Amino acid sequence: MSLTVLMNAGPWLSVPPPGYGGIENVVATLVPELRRLGVRVVLASVGSSTLPVDERVSVFPDGQFAALQRPYNQVCGISQAHLSGVVRELHARDDIDLVHDHVEAVGLATLAAMGPDAPAVLHTLHWDLAKHPALYGNLDGGDRVRVNGVSASQLARAPQALRDHSVGHVHLSTPLAVGADRRPTPVKGDHVVILGRINPGKGQDVGARLAHRAGFRLVLAGPVGPYHRPEDLTAAGDEARQNPDARFFLDEVAPYVDGDRVRWLGTVAGQERDDLLAGARASLFPLRWEEPGGTAVVESLALGTPVVATARGCLPELVEHGRTGLLTADEEELGDLVREASLVDPAECRREAALRFTPEVMAQRYVALYEHVRRTAAAR
Ligand code: UDP
Repeated sequence: MSLTVLMNAGPWLSVPPPGYGGIENVVATLVPELRRLGVRVVLASVGSSTLPVDERVSVFPDGQFAALQRPYNQVCGISQAHLSGVVRELHARDDIDLVHDHVEAVGLATLAAMGPDAPAVLHTLHWDLAKHPALYGNLDGGDRVRVNGVSASQLARAPQALRDHSVGHVHLSTPLAVGADRRPTPVKGDHVVILGRINPGKGQDVGARLAHRAGFRLVLAGPVGPYHRPEDLTAAGDEARQNPDARFFLDEVAPYVDGDRVRWLGTVAGQERDDLLAGARASLFPLRWEEPGGTAVVESLALGTPVVATARGCLPELVEHGRTGLLTADEEELGDLVREASLVDPAECRREAALRFTPEVMAQRYVALYEHVRRTAAAR
């Protein structure tokens, strides 16, 4: 197939990301499979990205993730500068068949406003948008813009303007799912893990409280705002409190962190992350938000670790209660479910991941959407 896609991963982190990274992880997983399927990929991201692609477009030499903590207007400025670079590139050439955009409303509106010369756009939603209808208020030029979600539940909650442009959803994937059904069951330790950004929506405070009450060992892995290591947060002192996630951690989670029953490791990456997850007896998601896509959920399944979670957002789409994990509407029940997680067969989790959550499954679905979007978007 001869299709050239400009993949916009945004200005925040390099692709693949050094540790934590949502959108950047998705792009790093998707692109190699697309290229195997014959798609040419032009990557718009930061200069420090190392993902092999056919061409690159960069405005910033390094990631601007730390700038996310700045006032919103500055964040928009960075985003706009990145987008101007993308749009300049699009104006300068005519071989781009489609833009696969992962960034946000600013990007979408800019691309849509390019006029009839703009290529078709498929925009992937990465967030829970129910509370942010204004972000996507203006889809001018929307004839060429189509939208996909990362779960059915995310799309169902999205503002009407987005649903009007929707072409369905594509679940997230992980390279760990490849051959997961052929791997042996890992030796399980006695710890439970919460993998993800430390954030009220992810509910580490709930998990930490339940760990003390129900008596299980809990390991928290993930960044606290811009702080990737516990010593960095300590060194920041009071200044850290300017960041809302750091405030949440210091006030709601840290009181439970005793280094024994509950530990915070900071960001873990690579083999360390995989070993931590594979060795856990359960992967806990005490969610307080509607999890839109849940990469960490499919990673847990791929590594043979049962998921114990509040049944919010995409969780019921990814996890089958009783077979690959345990779900509840009541967060107070999570402590009991952690105890029962040993009843879930890790081999069943791995089989499910190998069937549903490989990069190949995701890429095939995106190629079908690219073709659909090109067919249905207004003629150039
Ligand atoms: N992650 C990681 N190290 C950490 C915490 C998270 O590598 O210490 C990765 C995690 O494995 C997953 C991604 O960051 O691939 C988080 O994606 P998810 O969709 O679970 O959550 P998001 O933060 O995007 O809401």
